[in-house]
Order: sequence, then structure tokens, then C-alpha cells
Amino acid sequence: MNIILFGPPGSGKGTQAKLLQSDRGLPQLSTGDMLRAAIAAGTELGKKCKAIMDAGELVSDEIVIGIIAERYAQKDCAGGAVFDGFPRSIPQAEALDKMLGNAGQAIDLVIELKVNDEILIKRVEQRIKESGGVARADDTPETLKNRLAVYYKNTAPLLDYYKAQGKLNTVDGMAPIDEVTHAIAAVIDAAEGK
Ligand code: AMP
Repeated sequence: MNIILFGPPGSGKGTQAKLLQSDRGLPQLSTGDMLRAAIAAGTELGKKCKAIMDAGELVSDEIVIGIIAERYAQKDCAGGAVFDGFPRSIPQAEALDKMLGNAGQAIDLVIELKVNDEILIKRVEQRIKESGGVARADDTPETLKNRLAVYYKNTAPLLDYYKAQGKLNTVDGMAPIDEVTHAIAAVIDAAEGK
């Protein structure tokens, strides 16, 4: 099964994607994690993306489509994957549909974690506090505002894209983590006819 976890920065996509990976064996494909790994490893790709990510802007569609295609081609994705933080633009969504179609697959479900902006800002502030201010260069109150603006401008239009495909499901991302996990499980089980 191929699932997109969808939502603004701080909505809990990463947390829930990791749980899906451990509970259902679907690998978490986080473009943000892949890009941060490239930066940490000092690769050319990482060098190209660092300033863009630190500013909370989107790296180019070409780059993220390339890293997703490479990752999805690995054996552990044969039974599907959980896409976390990808796609973030219409061209990325179209490229993903094409890539999956070529592999005889498709996106089965898009699960939106709905969270209001005030809660997102509070969550990111908490994440900054817990990390002592060093975990992520783009976790600053100023950058978060830009990441949210970028989300509403470039990424939120994907909700209509997936609604039109009949794949969009929305869960309350403001509920406690285990309740969100249950709500996601219910959506997946229903899609699997369980
Ligand atoms: P994330 O960890 O998903 O919040 O991503 C962190 C940063 O990586 C984003 O603010 C972007 O700069 C970059 N990034 C991650 N995924 C994408 C994507 N699908 N398209 C463009 N940029 C991305």
C-alpha cells in the first residue's frame, strides 16, 4: 500500500510515519530526512540544498523527485511506502503518480493531519526547547512562519488534487498522538476492507 501523510510542518507526519513503519512494515520515505542526511554527509546535493532548507523554502522539484525515485526503487518499497513530506507541489504529485504508474502501483490513500497554525507554532517552539535549539536549522520561529506560508501557497493545493482522485482522508492532528495513530489505522483498515 502506498500512503501519503499530508500536513503542514509540525503536524506530526514524521511521528506517525515512523509508527506506520514499525506497525505495518511500510518504509517511511521522508524527503526532509534524506536531504538532512545529504547535508550531514557533505554531498554536493546537500551543499546545494542547505541554504534553501535553512530559509524554509522548497528545494527544486527535480531534486526531490530524483531522490524519491532512487529510494522507491529499493527492494524494501516493493510492498509500498509511506510518503512523508513528499509531494509538496503539484508537479511533484504528478511526477509521483507517473513514477508509481510505471511500477504498476498507485497512491492508495492520502491522510491529512489537520492542525491549526497556533498549535503548530507551539509544537515547533516545544521542539526547539527540547533540542536545546540545535536539532534543526529550520526550526526557528521566523523560519516556521515562512515554512507555513510556503505550505499554504505550494502544498495545500494538493488537497484538491487528491480530493479529485477520491483519495483524501482527514484526521484530527490535534488529538493526542495515540488517538491520531488510531484514527490513521482506522482509515487504512477501512481501505483494506478490514
Ligand atoms: P521536512 O523535514 O519535511 O519539514 O523538510 C525540511 C525541508 O526540506 C523543507 O522545508 C524543504 O526545504 C525541504 N524539503 C523536504 N521535502 C521537500 C519536498 N518534497 N519538496 C521541496 N523541498 C522539500
